[in-house]
Amino acid sequence: MRFAVTKVCGGGGKARVGALHIGGGGGIAIETPALLLSTRKGLPSFVSCDHLASLPLPDSLLLHVCPTHFMEGPPLKTISNIGGLHHMLGLPDHILVAAAGDSIESLPSSEATNKFGASFDTPSGRRLVKPSDYMELVSCMKPNLWASLADEVPAWVTDKRNKISVDRTLRWLDACIALDADSGTNGFGVIVGGSSVEQRRLCATEVSKRNVSGFWIGGFGLGENIEERCSLLNAVTDCLPPEKPRLVSRLGLPEEVLEGVAAGIDLFDSTYIYQLTMGGFALIFPIDMVEREIQNGTFNNDGGDSTKINLRASTYRKDTSRLVDSCNCFTCQNHTRAYLNHLLNVHEMLAQILLEIHNTHHYLHFFRSIREAIKVGKFDLFRQQFVKKRRANITAAVL
Ligand SMILES: [Zn+2]
Repeated sequence: MRFAVTKVCGGGGKARVGALHIGGGGGIAIETPALLLSTRKGLPSFVSCDHLASLPLPDSLLLHVCPTHFMEGPPLKTISNIGGLHHMLGLPDHILVAAAGDSIESLPSSEATNKFGASFDTPSGRRLVKPSDYMELVSCMKPNLWASLADEVPAWVTDKRNKISVDRTLRWLDACIALDADSGTNGFGVIVGGSSVEQRRLCATEVSKRNVSGFWIGGFGLGENIEERCSLLNAVTDCLPPEKPRLVSRLGLPEEVLEGVAAGIDLFDSTYIYQLTMGGFALIFPIDMVEREIQNGTFNNDGGDSTKINLRASTYRKDTSRLVDSCNCFTCQNHTRAYLNHLLNVHEMLAQILLEIHNTHHYLHFFRSIREAIKVGKFDLFRQQFVKKRRANITAAVL
């Protein structure tokens, strides 16, 4: 794996564009900031392999996989004999990034975690995963990147428990690195520290001393105060060497992504698209309009559009328009809002398939726009304008 920062936003900003090269034969170049698509047992929840290929490339090549999803699956030796997850899933060119736990199926359970390993609440009960178990999973699955095991705690735990979480996470990182010593794969060190700026700094500084390929910033989206998040993120990124990639977990709302990018984050792992899709929502925020205004240097706030629509609402029953007129995804090219409303009403899974295709397409486009704004030195304006439009639309919807 190689990573290079190619552009940093001017004016003292930390937002940056980078190029991530992974794989053999020169590797596949992924431009950052980028999104890792969330998966369940290795595949996006509703998008099949053939439709996966129709998503924007190379942006859609990054997949987050959760090794704990496979603990009740085929024997690890079988996965290994098949050649690892890439071959088992039939996705040889995709970049699989492994991290324990997700925010849907395998929730970290800080109360049940102990000095031996991290505990996760899963559909099949609570599972304790030790560093040795975890690295065996990684070794058999052969992901392109993996994050070390972490003791993630919610924001409200005591300072003492928070400190224990940092100590354990560092100890488990050392154990994971030692267990992976012969494979030479790319390990990301997890940074925790809850809502304590001091513990965040300490953890980031210690992890950056280790032999890691990048950094996985965990422990966000677990009840922290939104006002504190900015200073916590910046406290972490200020302690990290600029030449290695930084990934943050569980920050997925557009405003959260923009906040992370502003703090110098390169990669995002979230279940936002899945949550939207399950709720029957389609993203429709006007990325193109913001882009055009940035390029033309004209900014206005007369949008009048909303950020997402709920296709379950009866108002879409007779709506013959596309989700987004300018979108060239499979869903928008072939189907109407009325049809999606019908599919949701009759509980047909095709609704989620079509919504996930569109939402993924739309959100990857959002990331592309962020990169373009950084490249032309207008990220702060892009963020400001985007948030202003979102707030105006949310206020209008409430009124
Ligand atoms: Zn679309």
